[in-house]
Amino acid sequence: MNAILGFADLMRREARTGRARLTAEQAENLATIHRSGEHLLGLINDVLDISKIESGRATCQPTDCDLHALLGELGELLRERATLKSLSLRVHWAATVPRHVRADATKLRQVLINLLGNAVKFTQQGSVLLAVDALRGEQGGRCRLRFAVSDTGPGIAAEEQAKLFQPFSQALAGVSPQEGSGLGLAISRQHVQLMGGDIAVHSAPGQGSRFSFELDFEVLKGAVPEAKAQRLVIGLEPGQPRYRVLIGDDIETNRQLLIKNLKPLGFALIEATDGEQALARWRDEQPDLILLDMRMPKMDGYEVARRIRAEEKRGRTPIIAVTASAFEEQRDEVLAAGCDEFLRKPFRDADLFELIGRHLKLAFVYAERAAPALHTAVDAARLGALPAALRAQLREALLVLDGARCGELAEQVAALDPELGAALGKQVKEMRFEELLGLCEAADAWTGT
Ligand code: ADP
Repeated sequence: MNAILGFADLMRREARTGRARLTAEQAENLATIHRSGEHLLGLINDVLDISKIESGRATCQPTDCDLHALLGELGELLRERATLKSLSLRVHWAATVPRHVRADATKLRQVLINLLGNAVKFTQQGSVLLAVDALRGEQGGRCRLRFAVSDTGPGIAAEEQAKLFQPFSQALAGVSPQEGSGLGLAISRQHVQLMGGDIAVHSAPGQGSRFSFELDFEVLKGAVPEAKAQRLVIGLEPGQPRYRVLIGDDIETNRQLLIKNLKPLGFALIEATDGEQALARWRDEQPDLILLDMRMPKMDGYEVARRIRAEEKRGRTPIIAVTASAFEEQRDEVLAAGCDEFLRKPFRDADLFELIGRHLKLAFVYAERAAPALHTAVDAARLGALPAALRAQLREALLVLDGARCGELAEQVAALDPELGAALGKQVKEMRFEELLGLCEAADAWTGT
């Protein structure tokens, strides 16, 4: 999956930064590969999660967390899916909900994405709401929060509610269309139980559903470091040294993926195809940073890291462990061997750049930052009111990521619907091609073109 998603991302980035041109069909194929890859990855992760839970290896891993940011991101994440179905999606937290808490943010996020994702998936009209309330004010540095996801969907009959949380079980709403694995709620309940709560469901056929849980959190006083920005890196600021990066991985495809990501940014790359070679090349060439696979023949990454730490005299070479381990819990083992970071495959290119950038103190050049999603004026219904031919041209230009052509078309749209044209132009500048494409497709589906 790392290679599939990684190479698809790479090609998309090359198209977006103008380093490559794709035909409409190629762009469409690429989007399909990416979508299917993400879907498969979701299933794999669900199955891994369940087996981790069943073997008793899942643990709670609290870190300092910006709860408000986490909730805000969730809204952004699901808004597109909701907009496509013309559902209203709201994420609301009471003023008394503290911003900085200690929480297993990964599990909390996963649970809320599952509940919100289900609500959006099964609701055909109306709204979805995530509301977070503080049940009692802060006492002795702790607070108790209630998370509730409500929807105006089909609801779930009482006799089905008991089965919902069993692995692989799907109630009426989930059986057709054959989406999902029926594992989401089983995993979510286990995660919430690990964090010290339980999920309750209130629902009746035709009355919508409400899934809720309560958890205790430690409230933090200071600010939490800001969540890393997921921005599109398009180069390095001029005037920085040409850093040398050692890539130690026995699998050619994995090395190629890293090389193709890093080379355009001007790094000098050194390759090693097993652990012994990685150690030898570190000794000979003294790279500035190492990307190290943990599972390699001859000598594994743990041993390489341990030996480097034992031998190094001229300062510490940052080592980023790149591992396919399914277990976030392995992080401690990797750090104990002397690595500085833990990058789990499949990784996002933005995460790779962020880690390298942090250790080498690099300044990146980013694509213009996408503004927080505000779909005030571009929506499928409004696009549907445009002449079909104009929409087809727009769709074509979006598919091949042709920003200039999209800009021209936005102007043509503005002549018919000034507000829509302006909003479209803005989103084109922000390179939100996929989002716009999704809206065009929804508009086509509605108007039957
Ligand atoms: P999946 O979504 O992969 O099918 P889940 O474990 O997340 O699996 O959900 C199990 C089943 O519970 C779904 O198939 C669906 O029948 C039902 N369900 C979950 N959430 C809702 C909801 N908000 N409204 C109606 N039915 C729901």
